[in-house]
Amino acid sequence: MKLRFLGGAREVGRSAILVNDALLLDFGMLTANPPQFPIETPTPEAVVVSHGHLDHVGAVPALLSGDARPPIHWTPPTYELTMTLARDTLKLHGGSFHCPFTETDLRRVTQVSQTHGYRETFEAAGHSVTFYNAGHIPGSAHVLVDDGETQLLYTGDFHIDEPSGANGNVASNRGDSPDDLVSGQRLVAGSSERPEADVVLCESTYSDVEHEDRAVVEERFAESVETTLWEGGTVVVPAFAIGRTQELMLVCAAHDIPCYVDGMGKEVTEMLRQHPGFVRDSEAFRRAVSHARFVTGHDGQRKRIVDQTAAIITTSGMLSGGPAMTYIPEIRGNPTNKIAMTGYQVEGTPGRDLLETGRAEIDGRVMPVSAQVEQYDFSAHADRSGVLEFLESYRESPVLVNHGDRCAAFAEELRGEGFDSSAPELGDAVSV
Ligand SMILES: [Zn+2]
Repeated sequence: MKLRFLGGAREVGRSAILVNDALLLDFGMLTANPPQFPIETPTPEAVVVSHGHLDHVGAVPALLSGDARPPIHWTPPTYELTMTLARDTLKLHGGSFHCPFTETDLRRVTQVSQTHGYRETFEAAGHSVTFYNAGHIPGSAHVLVDDGETQLLYTGDFHIDEPSGANGNVASNRGDSPDDLVSGQRLVAGSSERPEADVVLCESTYSDVEHEDRAVVEERFAESVETTLWEGGTVVVPAFAIGRTQELMLVCAAHDIPCYVDGMGKEVTEMLRQHPGFVRDSEAFRRAVSHARFVTGHDGQRKRIVDQTAAIITTSGMLSGGPAMTYIPEIRGNPTNKIAMTGYQVEGTPGRDLLETGRAEIDGRVMPVSAQVEQYDFSAHADRSGVLEFLESYRESPVLVNHGDRCAAFAEELRGEGFDSSAPELGDAVSV
């Protein structure tokens, strides 16, 4: 089997791997200014997509801008999320170099889309392909690719449930009482299947990070929000639209924290209601949706909401746009209020600046913030222990490391652990 790394090698963003010059795995974009795309646009016979995040699907419609119409294989949520993200990219950058596709290309995506559930083997460009739950966001998949000689397991982004630090039990059944044992994401069950594979292509986003136990993070978040609400304050919770917004809705429902939801996360929530099979506990999700209040109006309504003692879950997760641009200026002056960041803040984003300096450029204006600012790690990626636990099932197989800022270092550490491991570079062609 031949692999070519067109993006996502020794970097995070624009993931793209071409298998046997015929089957393309992911075709993402790297969010930067300007955005970056895979180093070439191939003409594959078929496309398989691991999950609906911009860095894995952001450039997919561009594959249809010529005469070729390769089928695109994905789970139903991944298809829907790709369409949502692509419409957003068109709205933000349509007609510029920052958007490599058109409205027409996007319509073609709907014509070539082929959706599959987990564990349903299908044929793509002469390969047998099977998706397994990757536990990262709804619809996310490990992708097993078999060309008749070699079985490649492409992990995509994944998350596994960690054994609870509280009493050593593995908590896989998450109820909605705050007293329940909590060990993974509420929205999706962690990756648990380890299909047989001859070679593994593994993400390594957090290969040098140990996440704090999720139960502890969640408890601390809930207590902090509740304290602010008791004091009469408002809490703005910036959150990514995909996965994080819904996870925080579930956390708020479980802890009975009144919450509003705003931004693109509303649309994603509505979509997930149509695909209950892709969330961990569809009943808990249904309750979280009815517990939350969705902001349907415009800035007038937003300005009234900030006077209420409630949490407001809103995009963007790094304060670089979205309704947060209305909420933050409204609440920033009062130290009783709080801004609870819920994801990693990339350097150079307003969210990162706010955490580090107490001020941030919001909607073109640098503003000091008197409200309290806190950071919580609700990561949807496996940490170092998680990745190692996953790879423990593949001791006999070569491991290729991608999707990380320190892929080469991690590959070396894996060799130290006895693995046959390497980190391909951008543009590399590798035979496995
Ligand atoms: Zn992802």
